[in-house]
This record gives sequence, C-alpha cells and structure tokens, in this order.
Amino acid sequence: MLRCLTLTADSDTDKLRNIRNNSQWLDAIEIRLDLCLQRNKGFITSLVDTACEASLSVVILSFRREEDGGKKTELSEAERLNLLEQLLCPGITHVDIERGVTAPGVEARADELGIEVIRSLHDFQGVPASMTELIEEIAAVGEIPKIACYPSSSQDVLELIRIARETFRIKNKIVLGMGAFGFFSRVAPQLCGSMLTFCSAGERSGAPGQTSPRELEEVYRVSQQNSHTVYFGIIGNPVLHSKSPQLHNPWFAEGRMNAIYVPFQVDDVGLFMRLAEQLGIRGFSVTVPHKQKIIQQVDRVEEAVQSIGSCNTVIRTSEGWVGSNTDYQGFLAPLKRTDILSVGNHVLVIGAGGVARTVVYALVQAGLVVTIVNRTDEKAAGLAAEFGVNWKPMQSQLSAGKFELIVQTTSAGMEPNTEIDPLPGYKFKGSEIVYELIYAPEQTRFLSRAGDAGCRIIGGREMLHAQALLQFEQFSSAYNPEAE
Ligand code: NAP
Repeated sequence: MLRCLTLTADSDTDKLRNIRNNSQWLDAIEIRLDLCLQRNKGFITSLVDTACEASLSVVILSFRREEDGGKKTELSEAERLNLLEQLLCPGITHVDIERGVTAPGVEARADELGIEVIRSLHDFQGVPASMTELIEEIAAVGEIPKIACYPSSSQDVLELIRIARETFRIKNKIVLGMGAFGFFSRVAPQLCGSMLTFCSAGERSGAPGQTSPRELEEVYRVSQQNSHTVYFGIIGNPVLHSKSPQLHNPWFAEGRMNAIYVPFQVDDVGLFMRLAEQLGIRGFSVTVPHKQKIIQQVDRVEEAVQSIGSCNTVIRTSEGWVGSNTDYQGFLAPLKRTDILSVGNHVLVIGAGGVARTVVYALVQAGLVVTIVNRTDEKAAGLAAEFGVNWKPMQSQLSAGKFELIVQTTSAGMEPNTEIDPLPGYKFKGSEIVYELIYAPEQTRFLSRAGDAGCRIIGGREMLHAQALLQFEQFSSAYNPEAE
C-alpha cells in the first residue's frame, strides 16, 4: 500500500523540507504543478532528486485543473498541458491526466520516458454513476484509473464499496472518498482496493479529508495493511474528532494483530450494518448519535444495554452481532479505586443526556442515592422517573456538603466554549469527589473550580481509557484472521 505525500506547502522550500521530514512514513510524492510557484525544470528536478535520496519509489506529476480541485492559474488549457509535457523528466514515474482531457503530447512524452499514466476523475458532488465501467475502460488501455469522489451519506459509501468490490480484480487503481464520509478510504485504502493513498503535511490539505503522513503510518499502519487485515472501527456523526483510533490501533500493534481500527462517519446505522457485512468488519464502537438506534440492528444485546437503553460496543460472534455497554463499567472503574461506592452515599449528576443514563444506572446499581440536575428540567425529571431517583430544578439551591460525589456529564465546557460552567453557582465544600466526563479539553472550568476548592478530581480520560480497554478485550476475542 503506497503512501503518497501531495506537495501542498505554500513555499517551494517547504515542499522540499516536507519530503525530507516525512520520508520515513512515505513511499511516494505527488508534485502538483498548480501548487508550485516555480514551474521550471530546475525545481522539478530538485523535487525528484530529494524523493530519490529519500528512497521514495513513486513520483507523480500532475497539473490539476481548477474544476478538479486545483488552484486557479493564469494559464490557458493548451499552456497547462504544454507545461506538463515539458516538465516530465527521468525520475518521474507517473503522470496524472484528467479523464476527458486530450493530451497526445503528454502521453507521447510519458511513453518515451517509460512513465505510467494515471487517468483521474474528481467528483466533488457525490459518487458518480457508472464508475465500474469507467475503471474497467481505463484499466483496459493500460492506464491506472484514479477516482476521487465525495460521498456525503452512508448510501454513497455503500455505492463506493460496491464499485470497489466490482473492480476488485483490477489491482492497479486508486479509488478514494473525500470528506468525512470518505475518510475511512484514506486510512484503510485496502477497503476500496486502492494501491495508494494521499496525505498532506502542514496547514494546507491537498483535498478534503487528507491526513498527515505520520498519522497514516503511526496510527493506521497503512504500509502494513493487506488482504488479511481485519477491520474494526467506530461509528458516529460526526466521528473524526474521536480519540478512539489513537487508543485501539497501538493496542492492536502491541498485540501483533493484523487489525486496524477506522472511523466511519455514519448517518444510517441500518446501511452501516450492510457495509459491515460486506467489509467483513469484526467489531465497532458506537458513539453519538447512534448509541440507541444501533440496538435495533444487532442480533442480541447484553442485559445492561436493555436496562440503560444505550449500546457503545458491537462485535461479530458465531451467534451474529452482539451489543454491549462498556461505558457502564468504564465509568465505574476510577470510582472503584476510591471508597465512594458505598451504599447510601449521595451523588449529584449534572446532565440528563445519553451518557447520563449510563452514569445514573451504574450509580443506582452501586447503591448510591442519586439526584439529577439538568439545564432542561423536564429531561432531568424524565430520567429520574425512569430510574427511580431524585431530581432538582436547575435554579434550586443545592446545599453544598450534601453530596459526596458530583458527576458532570454535560457537554458544557467542551471546546470551543471552555469558559462555560454547567453549574456556575455551586459552591464546593472541598471534601467531595468531582468527576468530569468531558475529556477534551482535559481541564474544564468546572474541574478547575473543583480543584481550587480542594476537591479530589477525576478527569474524563480515565473513563475513556477504561471503557476502551474493555472494548479492546471484546475486539481481541472477535479477531480471528484464520477464519477469513
Ligand atoms: P448528549 O446526549 O448530547 O447530552 C448533552 C447533555 O449536556 C444534556 O444534558 C444537555 O442538556 C447538556 N448541555 C449541553 N450543552 C449545555 C450547556 N451549554 N449548559 C448546560 N448543559 C448543557 O451528550 P452525551 O452523549 O451525554 O455526552 C455528554 C458529554 O460526555 C460529552 O462531552 C461527551 O464527550 C462526554 N462523554 C465522555 C465519555 C468518556 O468516556 N469520558 C463517554 C461518553 C460521553 P439539555 O438536556 O438541556 O440539552
């Protein structure tokens, strides 16, 4: 699997520097003439030489048109193609020519130098129809098809995978999805049967969804993915902010498992289940907003999922798809290291959203006396009634000292609103344990106020880590490459 750096840096000096600084994670570079300030032989040769010194095996030259996502240039179409032809030189291994462009001069020069032609199609509106035929047509004349499309729904992703499967026997091709829905295809190119994936370094991305060479390799081990790789993942909408790939992928690597954990942006869990079957996915984490809806899609759920009404983990077993909830045990894990989980202790839960359900269930199971407050009183009342616990209106006076534990489950305090406090008037006594579930940022205003008052504090990363470890145990049991 080739990892190709698109040279997007604003300055030409930085383009050279980016090749050198990232070469350990790369196999290829793409020189985009539309992004080069110096479009001359001297500069192109210096890029080719730098790639050669870094032992990169592939150098692609392209001059992307504006309509294909390229930077606007002052050149006419004839001048663009003429420059592309003139700048082909030894050391360049591939030239990218857009589908529908007639460029006999470029093709003849490429032929003379033994340079392969990549025939590309960029569609920023969706997944184009008839891609299978197009890929077959391009491959039939000995060129490498490259299709970069823009899926914007789970339906589009299914379509992309259908095309990838239909053209599976064509090994020399590049099929990728841009944007959040297509991100999985960049970090798991194997899933689309792609020979190569693009990445970019620095501020500017070569195309929507491109990640850095370091992340491609250190998190997703792209160079090691192959036809035996077992895929796991996380579904959510949005999902790309999730830190779970940074936890699970190193654990798979440490366990010497040929398994990769990939974020999937999903807007329809039913369609994702079809995709999971087609891609042979063995298990996945579930995040907002799918923790409830996924329950209808699996074959069986564990008891805690029924009681909480929330499922964050799904694995494939011999009995079909099984759903469980590791948030519940993960939430309790740091509390088990304290003496707070004693029957009769009073706990204040701030929030009545998805994770609050899990928290209230866990605390009730442990025998604590729970009181809920929430920005929207009715939701606090509803959750309290469901679990048979107390609730208080947001505006009521909460007596400091009554609660031995305070659990902050709202999203108030997440970036970028770092100054927001979900319970601004509350005066900490200093002897309580304050547990903040937000993990990014690690320090919220609420947590620092509690810390200043002398409270013992627990940050959201502890739960995140504990629930992920429990998921990883399940993923490890579902990992069985010999069954493929
Ligand atoms: P959710 O279902 O959307 O619930 C959001 C909750 O936050 C609701 O109670 C909502 O109140 C409240 N809220 C939102 N904005 C607020 C504001 N400006 N002021 C006061 N309250 C506000 O979300 P969720 O799934 O429960 O997740 C909540 C947080 O927990 C997120 O930050 C998430 O990252 C974190 N979390 C952490 C872990 C972990 O492992 N550490 C696991 C899961 C979740 P209303 O009812 O009034 O809208």
